[in-house]
Parts: sequence; structure tokens; C-alpha cells
Amino acid sequence: MTQRKADQKRLQLAASVFTHAREGIIITDVQGNIVDVNETFTRITGYSSQEVLGRNPRFLRSDRQGPDFYKAMWQSLTSKGHWYGELWNHTKDGSLYAEMLTIGTVYDDDGQALNYVGLFSDITLQKEHQQELEHIAHYDPLTNLPNRVLLSDRLRQAMAQCQRSDSLLAVVFLDLDGFKSINDRHGHDVGDLLLISLAQRLKNALREGDTLARIGGDEFIAVLAGLENSNNYVPVLERMLQAAAEPVPFGKIMLQVSASLGVTIFPQDAADAEQLMRHADQAMYQAKQAGKNCYHIFDIKNDITINTHTEQLIGIIRALHNNEFVLYYQPKVNIRTNEIIGSEALIRWQHPEKGLLEPSHFLPILEGKSAAAELDEWVIDKVFEQLVEWKTHGFSTPVSINISAVSLQNHGFVQRLYDRQIKYPQLSSNIIELEILETSTLEDITTAASIITACKNIGIKFALDDFGTGYSSLTYLRRLPADQLKIDQSFIRDMLDDPDDLAIVKGIMGLAEAFKRTVIAEGVESTAHGELLLDMGCELAQGYGIAHPMPPEMLPNWSAQWTKL
Ligand code: C2E
Ligand code: MG
Ligand code: MG
Repeated sequence: MTQRKADQKRLQLAASVFTHAREGIIITDVQGNIVDVNETFTRITGYSSQEVLGRNPRFLRSDRQGPDFYKAMWQSLTSKGHWYGELWNHTKDGSLYAEMLTIGTVYDDDGQALNYVGLFSDITLQKEHQQELEHIAHYDPLTNLPNRVLLSDRLRQAMAQCQRSDSLLAVVFLDLDGFKSINDRHGHDVGDLLLISLAQRLKNALREGDTLARIGGDEFIAVLAGLENSNNYVPVLERMLQAAAEPVPFGKIMLQVSASLGVTIFPQDAADAEQLMRHADQAMYQAKQAGKNCYHIFDIKNDITINTHTEQLIGIIRALHNNEFVLYYQPKVNIRTNEIIGSEALIRWQHPEKGLLEPSHFLPILEGKSAAAELDEWVIDKVFEQLVEWKTHGFSTPVSINISAVSLQNHGFVQRLYDRQIKYPQLSSNIIELEILETSTLEDITTAASIITACKNIGIKFALDDFGTGYSSLTYLRRLPADQLKIDQSFIRDMLDDPDDLAIVKGIMGLAEAFKRTVIAEGVESTAHGELLLDMGCELAQGYGIAHPMPPEMLPNWSAQWTKL
């Protein structure tokens, strides 16, 4: 009696576990026909027990798993007696669900298989969440294109595939031309919309099976795989250029940019995936140098010689985009009245590894390159922001900005200055002055002169920097309507000991008087320098003897405590 009672109790318990388990349970006979299912099974699959009894559970299958999957499952079941894993099945209404399934075998006393018991839980939500996370890790949220991580992966696969099939692949680095000015003029929202629309167009320009990824701001990389010969990609490049340059309407405005493309071909360029992308990047910069809106093929033979220079150039441009540059300010004073007349903005590179670098470490690399103009525009923006910042703290001083000859001649230079004046109405229009560098590289003096005049008309004065060093200074002096000559520091520094330098300084003073220009001396390192300058009638000065260039937050205090040289 007691034994039977105990057995009955155990059975009741088992039945209750079966019915109320949070897992779905399926019991089949050895043929695989269902003999029982529990309520959770019905809740997950939508099938009642009557509908499934006697059937083989394979009616639940989806096509997410192939025949091999089930073969392996049965192999494990017959040899080891159990199996577990994840699979996707259909519910009664046809939707897919993911389950975590454990199947065990029930044996009789002789070790013969009697039944199979499957326990499963619904993991659809976890799966979806996991997929979402994977998507976030691999796709650019704005354009929904693959990001750099997924691109690297795809590129490696494509390279392996190329080697197997003896075909070629092209890595195309694309950078938009003029995207920054769209952002500046119309705001980031419009910029984002433009990127989304261009991403779609570029994608349409590619062939099926090609990958397009967005790897940063306005930078994309396309991988064109399975090319038979190295000219196959040219039509695609042309389509990409066209797609990027086509105007995009936004409400009443039309937005238009173009693209510079850099291309490298694997396996001619027998590099690894990272290097291929870098080479395509370098080629892209050459396309920019060549005038933009074009493509440039990476030159493997030339690579070694141009490599270091291009890489340095790329490093500087990256740094600019990463906001690694800062401006220091060096005061300019009148050494007769001891009045502070302004300060000069001097750029520094806050290098993440090398520390604070002076311009001699990086400006020469930019010389004559379009990136020099980009840097100058950045400096101007930064100065305006600084002036506003100072103003909110009750401090104000005119600032001179160094401008390379390339920038000055860049299309729209004056307009951009004017736009900034409009943008910051709280600043007086003559608070900015410009110092032109490398005047000897000015290609067209007439145009340069008209630009200077246009700037003067909006209140911006000019100085000719490093005056005395360029061999054609006299012509420039006559033709360029600059207000001020800035005597190069090399003459000032040595004028105390070197009569030739002193003669040059005197000569420049005379020229300035004849041409009615003001003069300022840079490189004034001591009181003795100052006294000699005053004797010659030069009152304006700048130099370590007065102050070293300093971070902007120090300038107000310095100004408050300044007395005299
Ligand atoms: P610069 O425009 O002639 O600037 C004066 C340079 O002389 C600065 O060097 C300054 O730190 C240095 N200096 C000032 N007083 C003295 C002194 O008493 N003794 C000596 N030995 N040096 C003095 P820095 O900052 O290294 O700049 C070098 C050059 O780089 C500048 O010469 C200018 O041509 C260029 N530069 C600096 N900042 C910018 C910028 O934002 N944009 C552009 N395009 N060029 C810049
Ligand atoms: Mg200067
Ligand atoms: Mg100078």
C-alpha cells in the first residue's frame, strides 16, 4: 500500500512538473511520433495537443536549418542518447521562433530506447536582441551601410576568394569634396540627409556583390571583387563619380558635392587588408591634389618615395579632423606707449604621442597643398570662437591670423570671412587682421591685390609677414595694398651685432615710410632690441622679450599685469 502510495505521489509530482513547466515539452516514441506535449508547448507553438499527437515534430521545422543539421542531431541522439542546441521553428500561424532545445532518450531496464523527451524554451527575444547588437557593431547607424569593422571582414573574405578564383579586386577610397561647407552652411541635419542620399546613390552605382562601407564623416570605401582584368573597374569608378556629383534637391535648395576617389588593385598591390585601405586612402589624397572630382590609382612603384611624405600629410589632415590643433596667442605691443595693440594666433599641434609641436614640424609638409587652406580656415574659425569666448569674460583684443598665399587665393575666401562677421555680430568687424605668408608664391598679384582690397572693405587689415625675406618683396610692396610690414625676426634678432641686418631693418623702415605703411618688428627678445627699434622710429613690437606665445586662457591675466618691456 505505502509503496503504491509513494509511487502515485511521485507520478502526480511528475505530471504537475510536466504540465506547469516553463519549458515546452514534447515526448515521442522511438519512431519519433509525438505521444504527449505540455501546455507550454501549446503556448509557444500555437498547436493544441490533439493537433499534434501521433505526428512527427518535423512539421514544425523552418528552412533555417538544412538537412545536415538534422542528420547531426540524430547522430548525437542515437550514439550519445542526447542532443542540445538552438534552432528555428514555425508556429501554427507561420511565424518563426527560436528555441533552445535539449533532447534526451528514455531507456527501459534492458537499455532499449523507449522515448525521446524534448525540452525547449523560446529564445526569440534574446536572438533578436543579439542580432540588434550585432547590427549596431557592424553597421553605420546613419546610412545603414557596413562600418569599418564589417568592411575589414568582407575585404579579407573577398581577398581570399580572389586568390582562389585568380581574379582581382579593387579597393576604392572615396572622400567627398566640399562636404564640410555644406555642413557649415546648412547645418548638420542637412549634411546627414545628404550623406544618406549619397550613400544610396553610390550603392546603386556599384555592382551586385560589391561592398560599400562608411568609415567616417564623409569617407566611404567600396570593395569591387571578382574583376577579370584591371580595367574592369573603370566604368564603376565613373559611375561613382557621377553619383556623387549629381545635385541633390532639399526643399528649395540644391546641394551638390563631388568625390575624390583613390584606388588600389589586389593582388598587384600585394598588401594586407589594412594596407590596401591605406594605399587607397593615399591615392585618394592624390586625387584631391589633382583637383578633386576624379580618381587616382595607387602607384605601387612610386609608393616608397612618396610614402613618407603622403603619410605625414595624411597624418596632419587626420589631426585636423580630430581637433588636435590648438592656438597660442602672442601679444603685440607699442613699446613707446606700452599699450597692448593685439595678439597673433600661432598654431600648435597637441600630438597625442609627441606632445606639443610647433609649426615647423608640420607646416612645411602642407606647403602648396590644398590642405594648407583647410588648416587656415580652421584657424580663422577657431579665432572667432576664441574672441567670443573672451568677450563673454569681458576681455577683448584684436587678433592677427597667419594666412598662406594659397588660402588667400582660394575661391570664396572673402565671402567666408564676411559670413563669419555676420555670424558673430557681437564682435567688431576690425577685430581680425591677416598676415600673409609666402607672398612670393602669389601667382597672380592683380587678383591678390583685389582680394586684399575686398577684405579692407569689410574692415579687415593686412600685414605682409616675414617682410624682407622674399626676393620679390619690392614688387609686392608696390602692388599689394597691405597696411603693415612685419619685419622678419631674423633681421631683428641679429641687428644688435650684425651691421648688415641693421641696414636691412633701416631700409625696410625707409620703404615703409615711402609707401605709407606701418611697421612692426617681430623677434624682439630684449630691452636692447626695443631701444634700438625706438631709435629708428619703430614702435610696434612682438617677441619673447615681451611675451612668449601662450594658451588663450592666460592672455587676459597677462594683459592685466603687463607694464613695459
Ligand atoms: P610668424 O608668423 O612669423 O610667427 C612668428 C614666429 O616667431 C612664431 O613661431 C613665434 O613663436 C616666433 N617668435 C616670436 N617671438 C620670437 C622671439 O622673440 N624670438 C624667436 N626666436 N622667435 C619668436 P611659431 O609659432 O613657431 O610659428 C612659426 C611660423 O609658422 C609663423 O611665423 C607662421 O609663418 C607659421 N604659422 C604659425 N601659426 C600659423 C597658422 O595658424 N597658420 C599658418 N598658415 N601659419 C602659421
Ligand atoms: Mg605671423
Ligand atoms: Mg614672421
